[in-house]
Amino acid sequence: SDVLLEVDNLHVSFTTYGGEIKAVRGVSFMLSEGETLAIVGESGCGKSVTARSLMRLLPERSSKIGEGSIRFKGEELTKLNEKRLRELRGSEISMIFQDAMTALNPTISIGEQIMEGIIRHQKLSRAEARKQALEMLGLVGITNPEMRLKQYLHEFSGGMRQRIMIAIAAVCNPSVLIADEPTTALDVTIQAQIIDLFRMLQKKTGVSIIIITHDLGVVAKIADRVNVMYAGKIVETGTVTELFHNPQHPYTKGLLASMPRLDMDRKLPLTPIPGTPPDLFAPPRGCAFAARCTYAMEVCGTYQPEQTRVSHSHSVACWLQDPRAKAVFQPPNKME
Ligand code: SF4
Ligand code: MG
Repeated sequence: SDVLLEVDNLHVSFTTYGGEIKAVRGVSFMLSEGETLAIVGESGCGKSVTARSLMRLLPERSSKIGEGSIRFKGEELTKLNEKRLRELRGSEISMIFQDAMTALNPTISIGEQIMEGIIRHQKLSRAEARKQALEMLGLVGITNPEMRLKQYLHEFSGGMRQRIMIAIAAVCNPSVLIADEPTTALDVTIQAQIIDLFRMLQKKTGVSIIIITHDLGVVAKIADRVNVMYAGKIVETGTVTELFHNPQHPYTKGLLASMPRLDMDRKLPLTPIPGTPPDLFAPPRGCAFAARCTYAMEVCGTYQPEQTRVSHSHSVACWLQDPRAKAVFQPPNKME
C-alpha cells in the first residue's frame, strides 16, 4: 500500500545545563496507509521524542532536529513554517497523549474543544461543527452526547477522557494518529476498550496509527509492525509476528521475557533486563546495549552494529546477525 510518512536518518538533540543529549540518533522508518506501527522501548529510549518530531511538537529553544528528513505525503516536515504546521496538525496528523487533563483544556467545555478543530480546519459554521462533534462523541462511545457536550473534563472518568481526546484528534479525519502511551494510565479493562476503539476507528476511516508504548501486550493487540528502540536508535523492526515469534536482538528478547503473560502466575517475578540504558550525553562508541548484553563480543564495544536484513520486513542492528562480525580483527572498509 501507499507510503504516507517516511522518516530518514532522523537526529534530535536537546540542550540542557549538563550538555547536549542525543535523544534520537539516526532513526529511519516508513508508515503506510491504514497500518498501525508501534514504537516500543523503555522510558528515555527516544520513542516519544521521535513521535513528537513528526508533528514538530518539541520545545523550540532547547531541542534541535539535527539532520535527517521527515516526509509526509511528499512534503518535507522538518522545513515547514509554523503556519503550514498548524494547518497539518489536527487535519492531517493528530496526536493523542497519555493524560487528557494536561493535554486538553480543563476550563473549556469538551464540545467547544471538539468544535474548535472542525471550525479551524473545515471552515464550517458552528451549527454544522456542533453536529459533527455530536456524531464524533457518539462514535467514540460517549452516551448522551447532547448533554455531555456541555461538560468539562473533570466530569468524566479516565477512560471517558481518553475517548474524548481521541474524538478531538480524529474529528477532522486525519491521515495519521500518533498515540503516546494512550492506555498507560488506565486499568486493564478500560485499556482493552480503548484499544478496541482505535481498531474500530481505523476500520471505519482507514487512518494510519503510530502507537508509542512500553507495553508489549498493547503491541500484540493492535500493531501490524513494530520498531524497537534503544538509546535513540531502532534496534529491531519487523511485523508483530516476526518480533514476537522470531526476535533477533538480545534487547527485544529481554523485553519479551519481561512481558507479563496471562498464562503465567502473576505473582512470579518478571525477568527485567539487568542494568540501565547508557548516558545519552556521551553515547557509547559501539553498540549501546553492549553493557547489558550477555552476548557482547569484542566488535560490539568498538563498532556500531548496522541494520541487517532478516526478511524483507524484518531487520536487526546486532553484530550477532551481521556476517561481517566474523572479520572482527579486520574491520570491513565501510566502518569508521
Ligand atoms: Fe549484544 Fe553485540 Fe548485538 Fe549489541 S551488537 S546487542 S552487544 S551482541
Ligand atoms: Mg514517553
